[in-house]
Amino acid sequence: MRVSLQQRAQSLRAQREAAHRLRRRRTVARRDGVRAEVDGAWLLECCGNDYLGLSRHPAVVAALRDGALRDGAGGVASHLVSGHAAAHEALEHALADWLQAPRALLFGSGYLANLAVLQGLLGEGDACVQDRLNHASLIDGARLAGCALKRYPHADAGGAARQLAAHPQGAALLATDGVFSMDGDRAPLRTLADVAGAHGACLYVDEAHAVGVLGDAGRGIIAAAGLGTAEAPLRLVTFGKALGSVGAAVVGEAVLVEHLAQVARPGIYTTAMPPAQAAATRAAVEIARGPEGDALRLRLQANIARFRDGARARGLALMPSDTPIQPLRVGADADALAMAAALEARGYWVAAIRPPTVPEGSARLRITLNALHGDADIDGLLVALDAVRGASA
Ligand SMILES: *Cc1c(COP(=O)(O)O)cnc(C)c1O
Repeated sequence: MRVSLQQRAQSLRAQREAAHRLRRRRTVARRDGVRAEVDGAWLLECCGNDYLGLSRHPAVVAALRDGALRDGAGGVASHLVSGHAAAHEALEHALADWLQAPRALLFGSGYLANLAVLQGLLGEGDACVQDRLNHASLIDGARLAGCALKRYPHADAGGAARQLAAHPQGAALLATDGVFSMDGDRAPLRTLADVAGAHGACLYVDEAHAVGVLGDAGRGIIAAAGLGTAEAPLRLVTFGKALGSVGAAVVGEAVLVEHLAQVARPGIYTTAMPPAQAAATRAAVEIARGPEGDALRLRLQANIARFRDGARARGLALMPSDTPIQPLRVGADADALAMAAALEARGYWVAAIRPPTVPEGSARLRITLNALHGDADIDGLLVALDAVRGASA
């Protein structure tokens, strides 16, 4: 029997609503630093990923404006036709230089770049071994590639080794988030690099929440772990988080990156990002890798330490994380929503993250800290979290 898509959508919506799973977009009317005006109220934003505040940095904004005056607002064509501009080329070189890797290749977003890497490198007969908590784009990429997708328990390098040993034929990619987006903890990269090396697999690290934040000069988690392109031949760098822009690059060994430029469909059949956006991203890279970036990272670390100390003193059960992502596990979806609503009433914007973004029964408040938060912001957030504890539907 033919199924009506409209009826199906309607009944799924009703189910979602009953299960407290309906997602709601909020419209930000204005922003001022870490404050955002939503539905007529100014809230302290504790849920964004612009960890260093670079999205509003005067030099980044000026690069975007000047770039648009010079190159226009659009991308004009794909990179392989006529869309590859000097600003794109300059950004790829700046990224390779900063991250001490041979090559960088731009993509429209991190989501697309992950699809590109997996679809471009793997196919039938190959294996992609992944941490169970990896970002959705890595899971989707493996499905698109048509390879065997094997997931191991979170941060379990032994589990990764067993999966690789079970697939000795074909090529293998070991893919992991560097910093896990909903948990804030770090992948055991040194052990994973050993495992990948022992099994002839390529280690691919998603640096979305690490680049700009961790490592010397903000080079990310591979650098922080004392590793380089030899151990992790490919990494994803996204521009939409600590770099305050939008877009992404795959960075690493020339032979792999150049192959992606030839064959990766999510990079080929799409319009290039506007050159002005590339110019803005390059300005952000220059800040992130320099003394101003160091100062912002120090502020961010101080905020993380202040928040964790205060939470401990109040008996708030934070998850183990030393990154700007500081989740507070709640459990039930409805309780996470109720706590987020109670925080909003007190002027704090914290996201309630529910399944399927996180595993069933592990709904949480995903608190993110920012270099632009002040001591009073952190202290106020702690008081509010303490007060809304136990709020329920
Ligand atoms: C945000 C994110 C992405 C996607 O990057 P976009 O540029 O936002 O598409 C990929 N991986 C991880 C771990 C992320 O957190």
